[in-house]
Amino acid sequence: MNNPLLAISTLPAFSKIKAEHVEPAIDKIITDNRTGLESLLKNSTQPDWDNLIQPLEEMEDRLNKIWSPVRHMNSVVNSEELREAYNLCLPKLSEYGTEMGQNKQLYKAYKAIAESNQYSMLDSAQKRTIQNALRDFHLSGVDLTDEKKQRYKEIAQRLTELSAKFEENVLDATQAWEKQCLKKTDLEGLPNSALEMASQTAEQREKEGWILTLEFPSYNAVITYADDRSLREEIYKAYTTRASDQGDNPDWDNSSIIEEMLALRHEVAQLLGFNNYVERSLATKMAETPLQVMEFLIDLAGKSRPQALEEMQEVSRFAKGVLGLDEVYAWDIPYISEKMKGTYFDLSQEDLKPYFPVNKVVAGLFKLVQRLYGITIKEKEGVDTWHPDVRFYEIFEPNGELKAQFYFDLYARPKKRGGAWMDECIARMQTGEGVQIPVAYMTCNSTPPVGDNPALFTHNEVITLFHEFGHGLHHMLTRIGRPSVSGISGVEWDAVELPSQFMENWCWEREALDMFAEHHETHKKLPESLYQKLMGSKNFQTAMQMVRQLEFSLFDLRIHHEYQAKDGARIQEILNEVRNEVAVIIPPDFNRFQHGFSHIFGGGYAAGYYSYKWAEVLSADAYARFEEEGLFNRQVGEDFLHTIIEVGGSRDAMDSFKAFRGREPKIDALLRHCGMAA
Ligand code: ZN
Repeated sequence: MNNPLLAISTLPAFSKIKAEHVEPAIDKIITDNRTGLESLLKNSTQPDWDNLIQPLEEMEDRLNKIWSPVRHMNSVVNSEELREAYNLCLPKLSEYGTEMGQNKQLYKAYKAIAESNQYSMLDSAQKRTIQNALRDFHLSGVDLTDEKKQRYKEIAQRLTELSAKFEENVLDATQAWEKQCLKKTDLEGLPNSALEMASQTAEQREKEGWILTLEFPSYNAVITYADDRSLREEIYKAYTTRASDQGDNPDWDNSSIIEEMLALRHEVAQLLGFNNYVERSLATKMAETPLQVMEFLIDLAGKSRPQALEEMQEVSRFAKGVLGLDEVYAWDIPYISEKMKGTYFDLSQEDLKPYFPVNKVVAGLFKLVQRLYGITIKEKEGVDTWHPDVRFYEIFEPNGELKAQFYFDLYARPKKRGGAWMDECIARMQTGEGVQIPVAYMTCNSTPPVGDNPALFTHNEVITLFHEFGHGLHHMLTRIGRPSVSGISGVEWDAVELPSQFMENWCWEREALDMFAEHHETHKKLPESLYQKLMGSKNFQTAMQMVRQLEFSLFDLRIHHEYQAKDGARIQEILNEVRNEVAVIIPPDFNRFQHGFSHIFGGGYAAGYYSYKWAEVLSADAYARFEEEGLFNRQVGEDFLHTIIEVGGSRDAMDSFKAFRGREPKIDALLRHCGMAA
């Protein structure tokens, strides 16, 4: 009776939410919504925004507010019980979603509103909500025969389950592996910070010595620094075979899940009249045709691969000449590269870490956005969260009005999914009673504090935090009060990385770094010499990184584009072909990177991984206006806020971009930032 999920009106009471609350709450809301929809449709003989769409948006909002904390907790404080409850709800939510999308009466009501006299009086966000809804009805199969509708529903449900199972397998395989080292000499080369982290892990697990894990901070330290080549090989093999046929436990093998997902995606695309799943994916994106995306990626590959090959040859030369390694394996490359950075730029990631204590980085990030957009951010104590490490903050408008709230959950820990992401807790919405303010979760897997020291971030971890905060600002600073198109909702997915990748640029600017880089003991700012070394290394192996992203993008595009029922998914075959065309590092045969490729099998990037590069053209070009007119030029900051961040999905991303830049995007800035010629 006392279900904390059903009591949610503002922030969730995380400490009170238990697995047993999940299914009853979702059942209740879905039942309420079904009844609600029925009576709305019965009563609105002349449907309009106020008597149909607004109440529907409010019903959906209530469901989202309840499901969001469940989904979030399943990702960051996973447990057997929660996982079971979560999985029980997935098919129900999928069925409910499909039912709404295929409801012909509802579709006709939306269509009637779009064709009514009222339509021209609606604001642009309302119009966009209606147009997106009409598009999505078709994409949910509203026009199909009953038999095909049923098949669509089954596929949608199954895909939801498979995607969740994919993520579970990756998490379980990541968590299950550990390596205990009893002699410090086994860990030669590891910096003190990594040794202390490994010893802290051992203590937490009540074991002797040092414990290495596959959580990213631990994996990354070993693969970058361990002098023992066989140790690097061992952890590389464990990491790149997670959840695969090459991994330790066949129960976690994602092979058949990947195969089935591709078959079902292809089937559903064809059911809807598309030739393949890429066409289905592009139906809601900026890019228009698969060919256009393919040409974009191939063009970038042509521009970057010659340089990437040279960079790789340099790795081999250095390995042989300086380190005495005749052959270079995949597990050597981060190690050799770090040594090269040390030699060429006299720079180690470890030199920078003392200047990036978490509290200074966070405070500096807040100062930066204050300067850019005039907002202020303050921590609020005493808010109920899911873990003691979590911090809670509030954003205030220049006039002091509360604008948004957010949670930071920054450190890697057991039972937490890897990677970094922003998710919606609550969306901005205009109601009869006023405005519901948006709330965001920002999640990273950075190095946790060790001993009494504050958490010290690597420069990459700083960049990741800024990136996710960019997504967060997009969600939180929106002025749109229609939840389907406010914040990141309704934004074409290949434009969604614009505000996030835009933020990364600041991590390289002296003036911005001075706002947050401060030594945690001496309180000195980042010395100019160290800054110069950092800048010197900025474009180190940048073409190698570029071709790696292109490899992932092309692989994702091609497996979805070329799928044929008679041949199956041809995953490894296509991956090998793509690698032969664009990669400069050919991984060993056992490598199963694809079995942990959560973006496209567990998240929303299927036939859309290219979005990162696509949006980077936009973000680099947008940032170039700051470079041209002054990094802290108030007008440019205001323009970016008003034309891109605040409008969310209420208009085409291309229109937003043109409003900010005064023209269509150009690729030059991206190439220049990467140190490549146009
Ligand atoms: Zn992102």
